[in-house]
Amino acid sequence: MDEVIKKIADPYILFQIERVSSFHGYLSTGAFIGIQMLNIAKRLLDADPAEQLYVTCETYSCLPDPFQILAGCTIGNKKLKIRDFGKMAVVVNKKGKEDQILVRSVRIVLDPAKTAKYPRLHEWYMNTGKVPHEEAITILIDAGESVYTYKFIDIELSKKPEKRIALCVNCGESFISKNGGALCLECMEKIEVLKE
Ligand SMILES: [Zn+2]
Repeated sequence: MDEVIKKIADPYILFQIERVSSFHGYLSTGAFIGIQMLNIAKRLLDADPAEQLYVTCETYSCLPDPFQILAGCTIGNKKLKIRDFGKMAVVVNKKGKEDQILVRSVRIVLDPAKTAKYPRLHEWYMNTGKVPHEEAITILIDAGESVYTYKFIDIELSKKPEKRIALCVNCGESFISKNGGALCLECMEKIEVLKE
């Protein structure tokens, strides 16, 4: 991998690679794709370096990590959502203003019609052959943004629901009650299991 990284001249990308490698454990092809997607999104959304971003990753694999460590989007701060469609795609938006209903976001996908021009990268993508990360990442560096497709979409911001804490009538533990029910989700699940 050191040989691959030596070819990169941009100090900012090198900095990103270093942080992602230590956070993710190593530089996987998917993590590198996440770095590229983040950089494309920031440019398309005209985000300044300190801008708060929100991301929905369409897979659990690799992609979320660059967004967590480089953009501060985490599960806990709710700036990272994962909809596990098993797709190499992300939807990114900036923070909406107070009382803004629609927010401009961009969906970026690693496009198989475009990776097809790079047979070994395409093999990695389609999992039809053994392609080492070093090789796939080298191709991605050369291909740059040409293997991605993006489109802008306006997404509706959901209203923050009022937080209501209740005590479960069964286990006595406190929980965030979303539908005004008297049982926590865990107890409800247990009861469902007993019924079956
Ligand atoms: Zn309970």
